Amino acid sequence: MFGLMQDRPLMIASIITHAARQHAKAEVVSKNIDGTIHRSNYAETERRARRLARALIALGIKAEDRVATLALNSYRHLELYYAISGMGAICHTINPRLAADDVSYIVNHAEDRIIFIDGVFAPVIAAVAPLIGKTVRAIVIMGNRAQIPALNLPAGMDLLCYEDLIDGADENYVWPEFDERSAASLCYTSGTTGRPKGVLYSHRSTLLHALAVNVGDVIGIRAVDRILPVVPMFHVNAWGIPYSAPMAGAALIMPGRHLDGASIAGLFNGERVTISCGVPTVWLGLLQHLRSSGERIDTIRRLTVGGSAVPRSMTEAFGTEYGVELGQGWGMTEMSPVGTYCQPNAANAHLTGDELLRLKEKQGRALWGVEMRIVGDDGAALPWDGVAFGLLQVRGPWICSAYFGDAPGSALDAEGWFSTGDIATIDADGFMEITDRAKDVIKSGGEWISSVQLENIAAGHPDIAEAAIIAARHAKWDERPLLIVTAKPGHEIDKAAVLDVFTGKVASWWRPDDVLVVSELPHTGTGKVHKMILREKYRDHLVDKG
Ligand code: AMP
Repeated sequence: MFGLMQDRPLMIASIITHAARQHAKAEVVSKNIDGTIHRSNYAETERRARRLARALIALGIKAEDRVATLALNSYRHLELYYAISGMGAICHTINPRLAADDVSYIVNHAEDRIIFIDGVFAPVIAAVAPLIGKTVRAIVIMGNRAQIPALNLPAGMDLLCYEDLIDGADENYVWPEFDERSAASLCYTSGTTGRPKGVLYSHRSTLLHALAVNVGDVIGIRAVDRILPVVPMFHVNAWGIPYSAPMAGAALIMPGRHLDGASIAGLFNGERVTISCGVPTVWLGLLQHLRSSGERIDTIRRLTVGGSAVPRSMTEAFGTEYGVELGQGWGMTEMSPVGTYCQPNAANAHLTGDELLRLKEKQGRALWGVEMRIVGDDGAALPWDGVAFGLLQVRGPWICSAYFGDAPGSALDAEGWFSTGDIATIDADGFMEITDRAKDVIKSGGEWISSVQLENIAAGHPDIAEAAIIAARHAKWDERPLLIVTAKPGHEIDKAAVLDVFTGKVASWWRPDDVLVVSELPHTGTGKVHKMILREKYRDHLVDKG
């Protein structure tokens, strides 16, 4: 017997129509490329999204067509999120930090029909335009007529103006309803090994994920909040915040390209931001700015961080120096992206001081909707004892089942588990801790050493700005950890003192064999340390040293 409840489909357009009706005046604030501020709200966003949907239809876009964006966080990008998915097409966000070769590959693989771009990314399009003419019919500059840059496009590819499209379209449009399992948006993995792969989110998965990150122990957004996603809308839908903020009715503050510590602090204070989300490197930049300038961030009640491991020293610094709670989440493109979040539960609610900081080093417990387990080399599930570590696998309604273009279910094993490629432990209270990416593990004399744990300890050293551990080849032990660091501005690095910080914190044989000081660490398009480049460059460092 079925329940007798209304079978209403979970539609992305319903978020913005809800926000326009219930939270019409909640602001959407954008910092433009030139540093000026643009103010809009949810009523205006929904109205312009309706016009944009009409404009897309006039341009020949149909349900399931891929419409791409190459854009920063802005009110126009938000309008596109709703217009494209809302009218039944698929919003394909492209990461402008990818190499030109990867951009042309994914545009062709996705068979994009139109690409909406911020004018600053005209050079990216100029580089790939001759290679993407098979399906792309138009490039739309997200600005007004005066903002259209000179751009040579091949015959058959038009150069259009966003504001002209909106001006020329009628707002008399009714959002359609269709199957909630329909594809809504597409994002390619950053592909540090091999080609990027497309993850195709549905209306249903997007709404369930947006609801799940809105609970109190995760991002916990309220209508009176003002949230600034530093995480980009061009990668994994900015952790779903463009959906969860209007769902909750919170104001959205869009930073555009201004992501350095001083600009972020300026926006926090100028716009009374209460919550923000970013990767550790962004918060590192903010911390350095706050310390050197003496500026405070007193309106902030929660900073959310994820994308790579969060050093304990960072959590401690924000807590003790600024009274700001740093909350760590973990996830991946294939998971929409959020899978876990680290907040105490009944088992550890009493923790304070060092013990609480230790807990907060963990990536946390699974959100409702996400099942996880760790498995050994033989595929058998390992115990949740905080010690055994193995490959982390996940299941759930916002986790991918196959990559775009592949056979349904092809990314899963026979029991429906998706392998994350992360190596982790899970403790008896359900808290997961990443010890490594499977491809980054260090195997020294047959034993595993956790690069994440060593990096975390190194990052706590007062002279170190950023730290990475890689597996370096070793004649006797096969692989040994090599520490590569950058110094904080104005600090000198004393190698012996750096190696001393590991004493007593890990087994003596985990201590890195050497410390390399470099001026900058390479980062991937999504802000993680690019270990593959480091490995290629320094893999033989210990062998060469003899
Ligand atoms: P992406 O698909 O680009 O979002 O990258 C996903 C990967 O980033 C995960 O599989 C992890 O290896 C890593 N990652 C994400 N969040 C965290 C975190 N809080 N701690 C450690 N690694 C993380």
